[in-house]
Amino acid sequence: MTAPVPADVLSRLKAVLGEGGWSDDPERLAPKLVEWRDRWSGTSPFLALPRTVDAVAAVVGICFEAGQPITVQGGNTGLVGGQIPQGEILLSTERLRTVREVEPYDDVLVAEAGVTLSAVHAAAAEVRRRFPLGLASEGSATVGGFVSTNAGGTQVLRYGTTRNLVLGLEAVMPNGEVWNGLKRLRKDNTGYDLKQLLIGGEGTLGVVTAASLKLFPVLASRAVAMLAIETPAEAIRLLARAKEVAGGAIEAFELMGRLGVDFALRNIPGTRDPFDAPHPWYVLVEFASAEQGSAERALEQFLEEAVEAGQVSDAVVAQTETQMKALWGIRENQSPAQKPEGATWKHDVSVPVSQVPAFLAEADAAMRAFVPGCRIAAFGHVGDGNIHYDVLRPDGGSDAEHAARRDEGSHLVHAIVVKLGGSISAEHGLGAMKTAEGARYKSPVELEALKAIRRALDPKRILNPRVLF
Ligand SMILES: Cc1cc2nc3c(=O)[nH]c(=O)nc-3n(C[C@H](O)[C@H](O)[C@H](O)COP(=O)(O)OP(=O)(O)OC[C@H]3O[C@@H](n4cnc5c(N)ncnc54)[C@H](O)[C@@H]3O)c2cc1C
Repeated sequence: MTAPVPADVLSRLKAVLGEGGWSDDPERLAPKLVEWRDRWSGTSPFLALPRTVDAVAAVVGICFEAGQPITVQGGNTGLVGGQIPQGEILLSTERLRTVREVEPYDDVLVAEAGVTLSAVHAAAAEVRRRFPLGLASEGSATVGGFVSTNAGGTQVLRYGTTRNLVLGLEAVMPNGEVWNGLKRLRKDNTGYDLKQLLIGGEGTLGVVTAASLKLFPVLASRAVAMLAIETPAEAIRLLARAKEVAGGAIEAFELMGRLGVDFALRNIPGTRDPFDAPHPWYVLVEFASAEQGSAERALEQFLEEAVEAGQVSDAVVAQTETQMKALWGIRENQSPAQKPEGATWKHDVSVPVSQVPAFLAEADAAMRAFVPGCRIAAFGHVGDGNIHYDVLRPDGGSDAEHAARRDEGSHLVHAIVVKLGGSISAEHGLGAMKTAEGARYKSPVELEALKAIRRALDPKRILNPRVLF
């Protein structure tokens, strides 16, 4: 808990924000102090709702002068608690909602921090372009949030993470100065790249106020299939072949275990099993191309070969947009479907793609020995080596007992990840939840360099003080 905000700081903030630009009403603040899984809750005495970049700069400048901590929040869909204040002032970007420009010749879209990912998709579609970041949280997740967490999602295999999709940024630095780096260049090799520090900076090195985002041509053909397979090792072999058959056209390659599919069938109304019988593992594959018919042809060739080689036990190809959505729905609901099942230890880890089967085998053995009867729901972006490895309490077990053993259990999982050359946070960031664990696995040299950068930019540590090193 931080110290109360001095009265003179509050009155200066109210003056620069103006009417409608702030609130201290507990009811207005309440939804911003919890996150969707009810995992994190917080407190804040004051909500700042700036509508312009200048207003953001004024708020941050006043807070810097006073040494007043701030937590920054976009759509509040972050999964590691970084956006939930613990006594700090809460700066929300919800009124920074303008798409400033969409320029198809430069293939760029410039949007303010509070614009949702869905709104970015819609604005790009108006000029027959697309922004290829896919998150199940797209209706709420914002530009500022996905930039600051370097979000990944389902299309990283083809387009890279947010880091690869941002051409420029505008941000308010911790001392309140505005940096206009809204370039739209594909090549700009002029030394250190400040925007790359802010991307994935989790709101610690500046408040992102706008971003220039890279656009791509719309797709003319999409083909989606769900494959039933016996083992994760089969998924890796299929992925290698899919890359050869599809060239650069693999849009997604996702793995799901049966238990997660069972949770979706049980807990997400309207979910249907695409197969007649249960299978141990599933791959959801999407090919997509700007050339008419090409994705369908490539998928057909890939599946024919896989079936002939006995690599898949069964396969379902979506024939309509509705069927594509239904198959994707099973994948996208893997996380929400766990909610009614009780306490879960969630891990968002990555290992080299070739090591995914070894990771799953070792982690399963370690978890079953540590919590006999635990239920393991593993799914994720296997094409990126990114597995969401979730360990749920045994059926009928105690939520409190399971939650109490979370840290110990997660250390075991993370030790296996690190041994296999992986990362303990593949795409969600470290936030408040994993900062200490993240620091354990950084070398002293790297950790000191990162701390030095933060000290230089934010010597009073006012921005998201509980997050990162
Ligand atoms: C159902 C669901 C599915 C998800 N799937 C994925 C996935 O596939 N891949 C993935 O990577 N993530 C995923 N996420 C996590 C989350 O959606 C992303 O991290 C998202 O990008 C966060 O955006 P937000 O606007 O909600 O940020 P918030 O939750 O508000 O904030 C997240 C972090 O960014 C900081 N921040 C927010 N705005 C700014 C700003 N303007 N300037 C500086 N810092 C800022 C906050 O302080 C916080 O540290 C998922 C979340 C949910 C709920």
